[in-house]
Amino acid sequence: MGGEEYSFERLLQFLENSISTFPDVRTGKNTVYEVRDAVLSAFSVFFMQCPSFLSHQRAMAGRIGKNNASSIFGVHKIPTDTHIRNLLDPISPELLFPVFDEIFAFLFEQGVISELVTCDRLLLIALDGTWFFSSEQIMCPACQSKRHKNGTTTYYHSAITPVIVKPGVDQAFSLPPEFITADDGSSKQDCENKAAKRWMETVGLRYLSEHYTVVLLGDDLYAKQPVCEHTGEYGYSFIYVCKSSSHRYLYDWLAEFSPKELHQKTHRHWTGKKHQLYRYRYRNGVPLRDTDDALWVNWMELTIMDTDGTVTRRFSFVTDLTLTDANIVNMIAYGRSRWKIENEHNNTLKTKGYHLEHNFGHGREHLSNFLMTLNLLAFLFHTVAHRFDRRYLLVRKTLGRRQTFFQDVQALTKYFFYDSWSHLLIAMINGLELEDPGG
Ligand SMILES: [Zn+2]
Repeated sequence: MGGEEYSFERLLQFLENSISTFPDVRTGKNTVYEVRDAVLSAFSVFFMQCPSFLSHQRAMAGRIGKNNASSIFGVHKIPTDTHIRNLLDPISPELLFPVFDEIFAFLFEQGVISELVTCDRLLLIALDGTWFFSSEQIMCPACQSKRHKNGTTTYYHSAITPVIVKPGVDQAFSLPPEFITADDGSSKQDCENKAAKRWMETVGLRYLSEHYTVVLLGDDLYAKQPVCEHTGEYGYSFIYVCKSSSHRYLYDWLAEFSPKELHQKTHRHWTGKKHQLYRYRYRNGVPLRDTDDALWVNWMELTIMDTDGTVTRRFSFVTDLTLTDANIVNMIAYGRSRWKIENEHNNTLKTKGYHLEHNFGHGREHLSNFLMTLNLLAFLFHTVAHRFDRRYLLVRKTLGRRQTFFQDVQALTKYFFYDSWSHLLIAMINGLELEDPGG
């Protein structure tokens, strides 16, 4: 595990480093409060998953002259929610991206990235679009909008939230988001495809390496010729979902092959309750679409069946990686690993994100996107702690559900003062009568 160099404060220092590059937007009466305090205060709310964390800490400061926002997060003076909103609204979320970079460099240094590279030297990055704000009343100029037939309009923000994943690894490591921007005349799908292409041309390039191939994972709307071509042009490989409903030509082409010509491999699989059949099929070199300049891709499919042949699930993908009998099982597992984030990562982001925006409002410029990026960072801090902090791991494991952990942290920090994040974890370990494993 090698946690010598990890500390919560070290991660927080990465955030402080980026804050030192922020423009100072204080005007008039706001000069009492620093931008730094606003960022760290908002971050603390996301990290603690507690909308009332700051009001509890203001109350504690009034009671005993000290508080956990200061001791744990380094906030000098807690601004009001209104000040936080006004101070953060003008700040572009891109200014937070160096924090992701520093954490990536740290993970690289510590050998975590090489552990995330698969045995065939692939680093899997899943790209998924997610809505993180939506309203019929509240909006800002950065909002996307969707008109409904009944005359109402939904305003929303969405982003692609790339994460590094690996089958068998529970944590997904967040990379900087790519915001999907409003674009008149483009469909929702075009907007997401454009955002994915922008990411490939800019932020994504930082993760290319001579040590491994970056494989992008995406859903069916990425399995379009322009996106696939773009993926290859910029040096990535891809595994994208390929449904028969949206790829008729490719599936008609596959239907021409005899069963023998589609490579097939079947396994028996024990779920713990019953036996299932896993039928893998693949074919290298099929056209992605019905044009003379069609891109030739490799197609693969997993069909999960009961032993009587009833199909329960089916997954199919196209990729530019060559498929063989030796790698087909892994390749399908790689393709499927992006569902992990849809379920865990984006759900957490959505439910908590929606919830927490109520604290600070929506803003008129960058606020919504800035807070979402801070929320992703808070999520990443927890992911990294999971990997390095033995105390954190022990408490999380002992308490079981994540909700229990956050509820306990919220209650403890409301009533008691702790010198640091480690002291809080030590107090929990003592309370649970566990042996302290050290930091
Ligand atoms: Zn907006």
